[in-house]
This record gives sequence, C-alpha cells and structure tokens, in this order.
Amino acid sequence: MEMRKFGKTGLEVSLLGFGGFHLLEIPQKEATVLLNEYLDRGGNYIETAMSYGQGESERKIGRAVSSRRDEYILVTKTGDRDAEGCRKSVEGSLENLQTDHVDILLMHGVQNSEELAKILAPEGAFGEAQKLKAEGKVNHIGLSMHGQPDVLIEALEKAPFEVVMTTLNYYDVNNFPKLLDVLVPMANEKEVGIILMKPLADGLLYKNAEDAFNYAFSLPVSVVVTGMNNREMVKLDMDLADNYTQLDGSAMGIIKTCAPELGKYMCRQCGICDSLGPDNFKARDIFRLEGLYDRQMRTGQIDDTGDFALRDRLRFWFGTQDRAREEYAQLPVKGDIELKPEECRVCPYGIDIPYKLALADYKLAGKESY
Ligand code: SF4
Repeated sequence: MEMRKFGKTGLEVSLLGFGGFHLLEIPQKEATVLLNEYLDRGGNYIETAMSYGQGESERKIGRAVSSRRDEYILVTKTGDRDAEGCRKSVEGSLENLQTDHVDILLMHGVQNSEELAKILAPEGAFGEAQKLKAEGKVNHIGLSMHGQPDVLIEALEKAPFEVVMTTLNYYDVNNFPKLLDVLVPMANEKEVGIILMKPLADGLLYKNAEDAFNYAFSLPVSVVVTGMNNREMVKLDMDLADNYTQLDGSAMGIIKTCAPELGKYMCRQCGICDSLGPDNFKARDIFRLEGLYDRQMRTGQIDDTGDFALRDRLRFWFGTQDRAREEYAQLPVKGDIELKPEECRVCPYGIDIPYKLALADYKLAGKESY
C-alpha cells in the first residue's frame, strides 16, 4: 500500500487508515480478526477515541493488537477541553489501549471558536497535551472537527497543531467549499498532516464506493480513514487502496459535480446563477448555508425510501443548524425573494432554483411550511 508523509511528524502513514468507531458494532473476536488483517495487509494507522463506547473501542484495539504495537501509528482523541480532564482522558486511553504512549492525540470534535479558546487557554487541554508530550505519553497533537472548516483554519493560525482531521468527500465538499479552497492548501503549506475522514459521507456514497475512495485517495492528504466492521469491507477497502488510480484535477471535478448521488438538488457552488436577483443576493450563498444546516440532505422528494431514511438520519450529524440559522439571519436578501421562473433555468445541473430557495428558506428561517 502507498505510504505518505504525515506532515512534519516524521511518520510515514499508509494511505488507508482503520477508524475504530465501528468496532462498537462487532464482538471482540471479530474486531481482533479485522485489525490483524488490516496490519497484515500493510495498513499502519489505527484510530479511536475515549468517547467511543466510553473506552470500549480502545479496549478492543488494546486486546486485539497491543502485542504488535510497534507496527502502527496509534491515534486517540479527548473530548475534554480543560487540563485536568485531558490528562485523565489520556491516562485512561493508555490503559485501555495497553500501551505507554499514543502517536497522536486529537482534540475531539472541536465545533467552534469558543471551544477552541477553552482548549488554548492557560488551563486548557492543549497545554496539558504538551506536558503529556514532554512525558512521552503523546508524540504529536492535533484536532478534529465535523462540518466546521473555520475552526480548523483558526486553530492552525493560532497554535502549532501538527495534524488536523476533517470530513472530506465529493459530496460534502459542495456543502463546505472552504475545506478544499482554504483548509487543505493552508495545512499543506504549514506541513500539517491531514487525516481525511468520512470518504463515503457517512455511508451515503456506498453505492459508488470506488469513485468515493478514488476521489479521497487522490487528494493531497496524508491518510484516508474509514470504518470497517466486517471482513468483506476490509478486503474491499484494502483492495481499493492497493489499486487506486490517481485522478487529475479534471477527473476529480467531474466526480464532484456529476456523481449520481448529487442529483438535481445539491448546489455545486459553480456561480453560474450569480446574476439572478439584486446585487446583494446570491442563490449559492443561501445554498451553502443550507449545506451547513443539513448538508442539503432533505430535498423534499422521496424517490427511494432507503435513501430517504439514510439522509434523514445523517442530515443533522454535524450539529451546525444554529450557526447556519444565525448566518442566514444576517443575509440582506433571503430565499423568499421573487424571481422570474423563466430567468431561473440557468443551472447546468438541472436544479430548480426557485423551489430550492423556498425549501432552503423554510429550513433556515424556521418557517412552518414551504
Ligand atoms: S447554477 Fe446551480 S450549481 Fe451553480 S451555483 Fe447556481 S444553483 Fe448552484
């Protein structure tokens, strides 16, 4: 399997990483088989978090592969923002994982500037993580987030984090354009390692796994992490990693705009409709906020009940609804604007712009109906 440089950490990481959350769904015996199979086939990145089953995922990893500890980069996370909680969390993780150190400690799921400020405060988790590093219990420090590129960008401006972990796939990149426009180039320029998570958008892209993985593997990131909870999945994902084709920018652009899962509802942020309406109005700004609100998952149409149920489950996964509504409230012209239908047939992806504006306005303004 391809090995990549992991920022300035000095580590070399395998292209495919093993995400530990889904170990909660399977028994220890099966977890042991899957983790060992992953290592046997050349994977060297195993990641978990104290919060996954209150240490259950960590304990399964410890029991399964602690005897092979020098063969993999071990990553765990703490959700504690203060010094005392961070130390307690890391010491608990080390016990669970049956090791004396983790290679990377991530500040888990940092959602906004306020949480980042607590982490970076004098009595915050970051300072304590640095002490743990000096003690040899943690080798590198990073942070992770869901659907909030701004907080990672701010973190890289303010503190010497060595690694960032972010959602990135051809679906959500349309919801969070700053991921590719700002965060990835910034992290690469600073030589900060990038851990890509959710290459399948929490399972939404499972019908198109080959394209989804090819897209993720082709990005300038260090490692692509995915959950694997059965033997077929380990085989499939490892095969895809071993045999992937590096896509050029144009092929990646085609997947990002034309993949079937994007359908006729997801705004690709192309800007072609920018000329509609008054000067202080851009439909794509509203659709970007709709992406922040519910990842543009609810389309108002039910073509496939299984797909609808999955979207409904995933749409508030990132918990960013309040922020989307706050930003929407600041817009000078909102989605309830009157546009001439004949002028709105401009979207090259077939999006019915007046319909989508009305639905976005219903979501973002909390209206009773649309
Ligand atoms: S033309 Fe379509 S894809 Fe492009 S910004 Fe407008 S709605 Fe989005």
